[in-house]
Amino acid sequence: MPNIVAHPGIICKPHLRLATGCAIMRAIPQVMKNLPHLNRPGYFGEYGGRYVPETLMPPLLEVEKALSEILPSTDFQSRLKDLLSEYCGRPTPITHCDRLSRELGIDLFLKREDLLHTGAHKINNALGQALLAQMMGKTHVIAETGAGQHGVATATAAAKFGLKCTVFMGAKDVERQAPNVQRMKLLGARVVAVQNGSCTLKDAINEALRFWISHQADTMYVFGTAAGPHPFPTLVRELQKVIGTEARAQMIARTGGLPDAVVACVGGGSNAIGMLHPFVQDEAVKLIGVEAGGTGEPGCENSAAINLGTPGVLHGARMNLLQDAHGQICESSSISAGLDYPGVGPEHVYLHEIGRVHYAVAYDHEALAAFRKLSEAEGIIPALESSHALAWVFAHAGDFSPGSKVLVNLSGRGDKDLAHALHFIQLD
Ligand SMILES: *Cc1c(COP(=O)(O)O)cnc(C)c1O
Repeated sequence: MPNIVAHPGIICKPHLRLATGCAIMRAIPQVMKNLPHLNRPGYFGEYGGRYVPETLMPPLLEVEKALSEILPSTDFQSRLKDLLSEYCGRPTPITHCDRLSRELGIDLFLKREDLLHTGAHKINNALGQALLAQMMGKTHVIAETGAGQHGVATATAAAKFGLKCTVFMGAKDVERQAPNVQRMKLLGARVVAVQNGSCTLKDAINEALRFWISHQADTMYVFGTAAGPHPFPTLVRELQKVIGTEARAQMIARTGGLPDAVVACVGGGSNAIGMLHPFVQDEAVKLIGVEAGGTGEPGCENSAAINLGTPGVLHGARMNLLQDAHGQICESSSISAGLDYPGVGPEHVYLHEIGRVHYAVAYDHEALAAFRKLSEAEGIIPALESSHALAWVFAHAGDFSPGSKVLVNLSGRGDKDLAHALHFIQLD
């Protein structure tokens, strides 16, 4: 079985295209008018696709069929809607940040995905894919996980539906993320410690794909973010866009119009695509994705694949990657484990290329400061991942005209991050 690796020979140019703040103000190009990427299934411009060994094609084609036949059915949609509301707590509210708005001179709103069951947006996707698996007649779901959040969400959904669940996790992460390993086990999942490569997330994904090849008859791979081979980037977006669809209607109901800007953090890109996609056609709305810049030191110690990566193929899709001169994947690094992925979903690379979404970078220390600031000023402890989006807003509030309405996706709650954050901040 061929290993699934990046294309060799693509040169890494660190910091070459590091974005600057004011590019968000540029006009939306003509190309947006007819979204050409919608015409070629599985591709977003030159990105996406399905670069996999032949043996993976049958299960991917089966999921693609389920995406076009089961997902849009009234049966699926009404079951998902009921589960999202009575099991997960949707719709999540939007919250106006009164004190921070006064301080920043803008009108700051948060979309509260932190209030969902299991504490983050990941359950929208895991529950949707597990329901799809059940309706496809599968009895076993598998998933990859890095920090353990997607593993916990998948184990939760599997328990709810009575499906067998196996989670692949790099051996290093199994050690680093012990509480989430215990959670998954409590929920009835089997956790497989992957000993290959760097023993982290990218190796866990490779191992899960390998396992799927030999267990396709009864198994569905519940992929954790808006990346991976087609149809996963589309499937994950379709399941996460409930965030932006709700938020758009809530902003109109609450303020009488659309927000001026919408901001989300970008790891693999699922919460961001879910939040931003429903606003893509609203040309007056500025869209901002915030990547994790790590410590800010040069080299590959970051997770900013759009700003600092180059095109290549990983995990079955063409996208931007953090890779070295030989096409070897760099180990990504961020203070928030959930943003720690060396690639980024292909639709984001496309939205960056056509200039519709501005992708910025926030560094570890800025995210930590934002983590603290939202806690103190609003009584909401944000996930360190979401803190990157907040950090961008805190740094750029002055670029907006006074009273601008800025909507931030609060992708998750930060209780899980407190112990880690305390290594870096002092509370008295
Ligand atoms: C996993 C995670 C992320 C990053 O994943 P995306 O696929 O980029 O959304 C962001 N926020 C939280 C709270 C997470 O758990």
